[in-house]
Amino acid sequence: MGSIAMPKPDDAVIARRQEIVKALRAIVPGEGVIDAEEEMRVYETDALTAYRQLPLVVVLPDTVEQVAAVLRYCHENEVKVVPRGAGTSLSGGALPAADGVLLSMMKFNRVLEIDYPNRAVVVQPGVTNLGITRAVEGDGFYYAPDPSSQIACSIGGNIAENSGGVHSLKYGLTTNNVLGLEMVLMTGEVIRIGGKHLDSEGYDFLALMTGSEGLLGVVTEVTVRILQKPETARAALIGFPSSEECGQCVADIIGAGIIPGGMEMMDKPAIHAAEDFVHAGYPRDVEALLIVELDGPEAEVDFLLSRIEEIARANKASTIRVSHSEEERMTYWAGRKAAFPAVGRISPDYLCMDGTIPRKALPRVLAGMRELGQKHGLRVANVFHAGDGNLHPLILYDANNPGELAAAEAFGADILLLCVEVGGVLTGEHGVGIEKRDLMGAMFTEDDLKQQQRVKCAFDEKQLLNPGKVFPVLHRCAELGRMHVSKGKLPFPDIPRF
Ligand SMILES: Cc1cc2nc3c(=O)[nH]c(=O)nc-3n(C[C@H](O)[C@H](O)[C@H](O)COP(=O)(O)OP(=O)(O)OC[C@H]3O[C@@H](n4cnc5c(N)ncnc54)[C@H](O)[C@@H]3O)c2cc1C
Repeated sequence: MGSIAMPKPDDAVIARRQEIVKALRAIVPGEGVIDAEEEMRVYETDALTAYRQLPLVVVLPDTVEQVAAVLRYCHENEVKVVPRGAGTSLSGGALPAADGVLLSMMKFNRVLEIDYPNRAVVVQPGVTNLGITRAVEGDGFYYAPDPSSQIACSIGGNIAENSGGVHSLKYGLTTNNVLGLEMVLMTGEVIRIGGKHLDSEGYDFLALMTGSEGLLGVVTEVTVRILQKPETARAALIGFPSSEECGQCVADIIGAGIIPGGMEMMDKPAIHAAEDFVHAGYPRDVEALLIVELDGPEAEVDFLLSRIEEIARANKASTIRVSHSEEERMTYWAGRKAAFPAVGRISPDYLCMDGTIPRKALPRVLAGMRELGQKHGLRVANVFHAGDGNLHPLILYDANNPGELAAAEAFGADILLLCVEVGGVLTGEHGVGIEKRDLMGAMFTEDDLKQQQRVKCAFDEKQLLNPGKVFPVLHRCAELGRMHVSKGKLPFPDIPRF
């Protein structure tokens, strides 16, 4: 197990387990409630597999009324709830609580409406990210945010994490592509935000909910914007003798006013791992590789590609290859898309980090990472959304070697602190979850954090939704703003602080 502590489970709630299970069965009949240990095992972790915890009970509702009734019951009976989509979170966002209900939304798997005149699709939250594109691609449309996990992850999870992907540089993250939501609050109240229109009056609750990591409500319906497929898309593979030159090329492309459909960078260990795995034709003699994709009308794509070639040459690119067929373009991407599993072949375990930096800080951060690797005695492979400055260092370790997981976690924390130090942020798209929870103090002041927690309290006063995630210290809502430690005496000593 990793080193991050979760709130101490409430024994009184665990003692009421039979009564809670019975009440939930009355709300969600049949196979919708799972309480057998062996059947709950599949829910004990998400993609942050170093952390595992069996939930109190698993509930799989399939109507909004059931979700509302489950939340209302849990609110009235002070039972915690952890919402879950497909369980691909890399930050431990869906890690269960021993004294909480694990609320799986995967039975909400229907596409409800396709509305081409409004360029919108209405889906239930358990529909996969790729499932939305699949539903409309026959008519020439697609849903732009494309996490590498898109075949598995749910759109509800994407909303909660504000997920992004290769195409987010040009087309935005989830928050830029969501038009409306239906959510159930912890009290069981059902609310609707936005719709098929572009903007709504009042506070921007849609933006507040997107990225709220399952702490404010449970998403039961999502309306997303869809786009028409571009006329053409071509990709370039550009190799460099150093990461510095590659990083400078990225900055120069954006500085020249060109926003590619995607611009991804890989360092030498990642290039070799990917090439060995999928044979994408990546050059092995380079230190850094850039994959740049241009999409749009053919003439525009051709013109911009020639500009990018000029910029790459000026930055001492040693290899420049441009795709001449759809098959070739897909081959270029195959290595990048398979980079995570490819790295999994060269190391028994890895931690995938996620931080964002200003683009110009890239050479400094890459050099800093090399030094930190030496300090912690571990290797790192880098794949990242270079255009957005969103890094995904993969820290290689072996959990069977005593102390290596702890060293990997310490290395990861140091990388994220470096990102903050150069003016960046702790996360780009994977969320804070438990993984980065205890680093929030490096980025926010105590007042900032309290302000954020007041928003949480406005939606979930009893703090029952997804406890132990995002906030390093759990203040009681009534206590917020009145925290004062005098002569070492902590007020409200009964409040869990972890
Ligand atoms: C191999 C791999 C590659 C990945 N690549 C990317 C990538 O390129 N870009 C990226 O952004 N992410 C990536 N991820 C991370 C992950 O896929 C995303 O964070 C995704 O959005 C999680 O969706 P999920 O359905 O699996 O959610 P889960 O893991 O089940 O849950 C994630 C969070 O969402 C909350 N949640 C889930 N459903 C709901 C709901 N209906 N209502 C309220 N809260 C809810 C949970 O409580 C939790 O906090 C990757 C993960 C893996 C394993």
